[in-house]
Amino acid sequence: MSDAELRDLYREMILDHSRKPRHFGRLPDATHKADGINPLCGDKLRLYLKIEDGTIESLSFEGTGCAISVASASLMTDAIEGLTVESAESCFDSVTDRLTGGSSHLGAPLEKLAALEGVRDYPSRVKCATLAWHALHAALTEDPHPATTE
Ligand code: ZN
Repeated sequence: MSDAELRDLYREMILDHSRKPRHFGRLPDATHKADGINPLCGDKLRLYLKIEDGTIESLSFEGTGCAISVASASLMTDAIEGLTVESAESCFDSVTDRLTGGSSHLGAPLEKLAALEGVRDYPSRVKCATLAWHALHAALTEDPHPATTE
């Protein structure tokens, strides 16, 4: 696949996930939740997790934001469902490092997150793309304060 084809594929994937976000809505039996706020862009989301025996059995999110923030949250919920808390935390480290210009490798189950790598050149967009991940980290560490990108 050429670079141009890959860019088109990534753009399609982001549009698709922003228009039809996966795992969107409240999770009535959530055991953990956290809010994420990106004041720069106006993105807001609430993340719900159901964790049992150290495994993320299910998760969902609701909120409003730009296409990048919604697509990122949607891609994240797809990638994280079924993982242990420990694996999810290591995904948080890899994704935030990668999207902020680091050299972390996005292997399984994070391959699709490569669709967001284009934000690396735009610091304000990085905040949109990492917001859901900061909310995930806050939920997993039971931080009572809303996660913010500032
Ligand atoms: Zn945004």
